[in-house]
Amino acid sequence: MATSTWRLPLLRRTLLHLSFPPPPFFQLSPFSAPLNQPKFKHSLVQCSSISIEEETTSSKYIHSEIPKTTRKLSWKPMCLYHTQGKCTKMDDPLHLEKFCHNCSVELGESVSELNSLQAQEFDYFLVLDLEGKVEILEFPVLLFDAKTMDVVDVFHRFVRPTKMSETRIKEYIEGKYGAFGVDRVWHDTAITFEEVIEQFEEWLRKERDGRINLWREDGDGHLNEAAFVTCGNWDLKTKVPQQCEVSGMKLPPYFMEWINLKDIYLNFYHRRAPGMLSMMKELRIPPLGSHHLGIDDSKNIARVMQRLLRDGALLQITARRVPDSPNTVRFFFQNRIK
Ligand SMILES: [Zn+2]
Repeated sequence: MATSTWRLPLLRRTLLHLSFPPPPFFQLSPFSAPLNQPKFKHSLVQCSSISIEEETTSSKYIHSEIPKTTRKLSWKPMCLYHTQGKCTKMDDPLHLEKFCHNCSVELGESVSELNSLQAQEFDYFLVLDLEGKVEILEFPVLLFDAKTMDVVDVFHRFVRPTKMSETRIKEYIEGKYGAFGVDRVWHDTAITFEEVIEQFEEWLRKERDGRINLWREDGDGHLNEAAFVTCGNWDLKTKVPQQCEVSGMKLPPYFMEWINLKDIYLNFYHRRAPGMLSMMKELRIPPLGSHHLGIDDSKNIARVMQRLLRDGALLQITARRVPDSPNTVRFFFQNRIK
């Protein structure tokens, strides 16, 4: 039996001891206020810890004894300056104690647990989960090695809308990110979508250990031995093209195909789960972080992807735009979540 343990902020301790299995996702948020506690902001989150076990192979949580194989994982909210390469407090012990600066903490997979892993068509997966209904507000990408399931790199940017008044942006961000206590970091760091794409392309070009070339920039412009993984078709079928239009940009060719994890899930387990939370619930993977904070959702989607891979699923392209008619999308599974 494979299990993992993670830690939650001190203020969660009572809540979780009172109600186990874990309460609904939003109550696990590191940024939303627990019962009978004043609302606390991102910068004030305490990071003392408790342990919870995650059972990965049967249908109920266990909490009577901790198996020897339990892996200790330390959980605390991510430093959202660090994920964007903008943290200036790496020499401040208090800051390092409060915030996580390693995106792979809750995504570590032991190679010994990968017995069922299938040979994959891709060497790398890029888990993407956009935020923003009117314009894109957050663009997080986690890069995974398909063989080891290690997080190789992270690209995360907050995105500033360009066709919205400053007053509207302020209201919008306060409503969405204020609820997580991260509106300040959003305002401190957000850049336009055009700038995000420029930086993302720099990131794609980056040499990692001198061996990864993620982008066939001089060829057809598609990703090289890599594929985007999303939860649903919305991110790449709808939102990115819409944003490109708003920003007056051509749709970059690497956005032309993707793997919709919901379709992989449906065709591998033969069960319908219409969203990230329902997949997690069925797989008994307790969600971590704040739902609808893109970087946290990406990590949770990645944990579902890791489970699918570990259970032996083949992650194939599920949707692709027709080259001569980019507005047309072809879907490759007959059974799909619509
Ligand atoms: Zn930091």
